[in-house]
Amino acid sequence: MSRRPSRLRVLTLNAALPVLDYRPRDGCSADPGTIVRLPLGPREINGVVWETERLPAQEVDAAKLRPINGAWDAPPIPERLRRLIEWTARYYYASPSAVLRMAMPMPSALDGARTMTEYRLTGEMPVRLTPQRRQVFDRLPGRQGAVRELAAWADVSDGVIRGLVNAGFIAPVTLPADRPPPLPDPAFAPATLAPEQAAAAGEMIDAVAARQFAPFLLHGVTGSGKTETYLEAVAKALEMGGQALILLPEIALTEPLMRRVEARFGVRPVGWHSDLRMSERRAAWRAIARGEARLTVGARSALFLPYPNLRLIVVDEAHEQSFKQEEGVLYHARDVAVMRGKLEKIPVVLATATPPLETQVQAERGTYRELILPSRYGGATMPDISVIDLRVNQPPRQHWLAPPLVKAMAETLERGEQSLLFLNRRGYAPLTLCRHCGTRIECPNCSAWLVEHRLTQRLMCHHCGLTEPTPTLCPECGEPDTLVPCGPGVERIAEEVSALFPEARTLLATSDTIGSPAKARALVDAVEAREIDILIGTQLVTKGYHFPDLTLVGVVDADLALKGGDLRAGERSFQQIVQVAGRAGRGSKPGQVLIQTHQPEATVIDALVRADAAGFYEAEIEARRDAAMPPFGRLAALIVSGPDEQEVARTAQALGRAAPRDLEDFLVLGPAPAPLALLRGRYRHRLLAHAARRVDLDAVLGEWLAKVDIPRAVRLTVDIDPYSF
Ligand code: ADP
Ligand code: ZN
Repeated sequence: MSRRPSRLRVLTLNAALPVLDYRPRDGCSADPGTIVRLPLGPREINGVVWETERLPAQEVDAAKLRPINGAWDAPPIPERLRRLIEWTARYYYASPSAVLRMAMPMPSALDGARTMTEYRLTGEMPVRLTPQRRQVFDRLPGRQGAVRELAAWADVSDGVIRGLVNAGFIAPVTLPADRPPPLPDPAFAPATLAPEQAAAAGEMIDAVAARQFAPFLLHGVTGSGKTETYLEAVAKALEMGGQALILLPEIALTEPLMRRVEARFGVRPVGWHSDLRMSERRAAWRAIARGEARLTVGARSALFLPYPNLRLIVVDEAHEQSFKQEEGVLYHARDVAVMRGKLEKIPVVLATATPPLETQVQAERGTYRELILPSRYGGATMPDISVIDLRVNQPPRQHWLAPPLVKAMAETLERGEQSLLFLNRRGYAPLTLCRHCGTRIECPNCSAWLVEHRLTQRLMCHHCGLTEPTPTLCPECGEPDTLVPCGPGVERIAEEVSALFPEARTLLATSDTIGSPAKARALVDAVEAREIDILIGTQLVTKGYHFPDLTLVGVVDADLALKGGDLRAGERSFQQIVQVAGRAGRGSKPGQVLIQTHQPEATVIDALVRADAAGFYEAEIEARRDAAMPPFGRLAALIVSGPDEQEVARTAQALGRAAPRDLEDFLVLGPAPAPLALLRGRYRHRLLAHAARRVDLDAVLGEWLAKVDIPRAVRLTVDIDPYSF
């Protein structure tokens, strides 16, 4: 069959040259969506055919287009996903190539006809080991992966791994070209739902069946059975032969949900998160793209995968701030999920006990349908929340647990029940100070203190990841034994608990100790098997978990989240405390929550104690409306960053001078040094644009930014609907 010549417009993964034109190659598919290999100078790059245009032969010749090199043996990027990629790039001022990369990581590895090679220890070991090699033999038994993955797990350079491969101590394993068997069909044992659950599920099921865009806010108190309820809608999507996606905010939560889903449907869903090996990632991507993986449970990037047949998206714990990506493409997965729902013409369910304020407003406007589960499933009662006023109940010096909390913990232990202490701060101490010269140990790359981690005996920057061994001498004055840790992190609380209750079995749960799904599974097992009496954790343990014997929750420092002072500080601390409180008393025994604070009269704390969520939201919404803050107005942050402080400041000032002046309902604040004025060695200045909803922010920003020349060494990042500013 002869084809008329055409021009292929290709979106490449090369951000510098995002859109390039080519011509087809005979015998090679070039339909829109095809993932192709392209010549670029002497190199080969990857891209996706975006549009094809039929042209007369002479025009194709005249344009001197080069043919593509070929197509990967991979399913295409569907049309609706291509529209989502375009929308995301436009709305968030991102490079379309960067968005495409999320839909299509590692294109060469996607090729189904290729074999892949992984490596693992052979079991032999050299007689003498360098410290680096020792680390490899300590950490890699039982693991298999690409060279880069092994190097990362062992925390050594690629060269160390390659050296061991060459010496024969690490051996290659060839994985077959992938044709994984299709997953078995899920089974649909119907669940018995409580009446409110059944009503909510019914509406979602109808929407799935109707194949229409429909945004839902599934608003149920902690333990009300939201998961059980939305799984009914998932079952409907699967029964119809379609695919469903459940997005979770935290990789540690995927494992418990995967298990629950497996128990419910008899099929393990496909997981998609950063902890996958390259080979697992490829298998998952291909199974999803072929429509064989029916149910995906994933982190926010799962939103950009090429589902050919998506019928439902659920965003669980929809209030979570981690749905906002703060690196690379600065998108908010909740908003992109709704947009994908719109493009796919399917329902999107935002499930939460503490709706994000923006979503609550949409529900009140009637744009989102609100489904309410007002009480806990199975007659469990809501926990009783009270305050420990730290001004009158002071913990002993260098301790952080006040006497009433310690007493309650002792009683809980006595009854053989479990406690949870929550402090949203990793490490041992947030600040290390020299008693002699007053130096505070700071990160050389960021305007932040280094945090002491005693488990690893290192200081660590939580912004850039820098770590160094904890010094014994003050780095400034050189005095020995003068460094003191100031303030508590969870490790220090764990130490205090062990001293208070030496007989109790405790477990520390932070991203340092349970960051991977496997470790999260071990945590759940240990708590469920009642091998743990006291759990101490960061926000990682505030959500998702269901531990029936956990009856006491202690919030170590409720003032911490209030300190941020940004737009969402109040909302965020309310959500965080409601969520962690929600872990208490989920079984038949009642739960108790104790909140340690210096400001019991703060609006948030007061609302929590009176269990007045409605009043809290009403007041917050009013305040936002008065200040025309989101969702009643819009914000965009412009971050100017670079290695040279003067140049950054000059560029930020130039942007400030070029800002539109006389626009109604449009205001620019700054420039000023950003809250993190130095981050990863780059100085940062910031301007904040505030616009009324009716202002065409896109157009205004476009015109404004075009007026300013950004020097090569300076980067301008536009953060639309910013969270941290
Ligand atoms: P949420 O997601 O709202 O916090 P879950 O879905 O985790 O609540 O439900 C809380 C507990 O109640 C879980 O142990 C769950 O298995 C149980 N549960 C909820 N609904 C049902 C139901 N219809 N039948 C049986 N168990 C249920
Ligand atoms: Zn740093």
